[in-house]
Amino acid sequence: MDLRGLYKFTLVDYPGKIACIVFTAGCNFRCPFCHNAALVIDPHSQPRVTETEFFNFLKNRRDLLDGVVISGGEPTLQPDLPEFCNHIHELGFKFKLDTNSSNPEVVFNIHRETGIDALGIDFKAPAVKYNLLVGNRDPELSDNVKRIIRFAMDNGIEMDVRTTVHRTLLSPDDLREMYGELKAISVPEWTLQQFNPVEVIDDALPTLETYSDHDLVAIAHELGSEVRVRNLKGRVIL
Ligand code: SF4
Repeated sequence: MDLRGLYKFTLVDYPGKIACIVFTAGCNFRCPFCHNAALVIDPHSQPRVTETEFFNFLKNRRDLLDGVVISGGEPTLQPDLPEFCNHIHELGFKFKLDTNSSNPEVVFNIHRETGIDALGIDFKAPAVKYNLLVGNRDPELSDNVKRIIRFAMDNGIEMDVRTTVHRTLLSPDDLREMYGELKAISVPEWTLQQFNPVEVIDDALPTLETYSDHDLVAIAHELGSEVRVRNLKGRVIL
């Protein structure tokens, strides 16, 4: 595993769990709002965390942490992700896998081999805009995210389906369209995440007007009771 970062403690990234977050190098998307730009574009500029260091850290946190968030970058690009997940389980921790859903077979295989405890699933855009928004031409992307969501529902895997929202990238009509796509596959809950105006891949975005928390709450109210809003502190405010 090419690990390029470790947050030792989080209460918000794995709902209901005290967790750490480990970040994997590289990504096959180029989402303009990505706030892990260095990890995506130039992962080798980030200090490496070896697997030995990571697992020694975990062994020393047995009484303090419940779980691990595996994030990135895109973790499913790491060839040894299945063994890594398995080892986390062997040490007695649960894990939540964050994915951009571009590699559904990797996710399905990990679940068959070791059992995924939770999935963080990015639903980026309506189908017609998906490729453009994420900067990846794979025509299956929009279908793949829905395959993973259905797989999670069919297998009882806890999931967090979320969308980072910036007004320039997703209009209220886009959000309505996305809601319709999720409704069609009976997604029980969808979270609109506030855009984080830090250093992102498209450095113009933080300078452009976006939705306020109030705007997002109003949109969520209009869409339906399955939609909630997460603010910049990672807290659900609706
Ligand atoms: S937001 Fe996620 S999927 Fe998009 S570029 Fe960043 S790491 Fe990749």
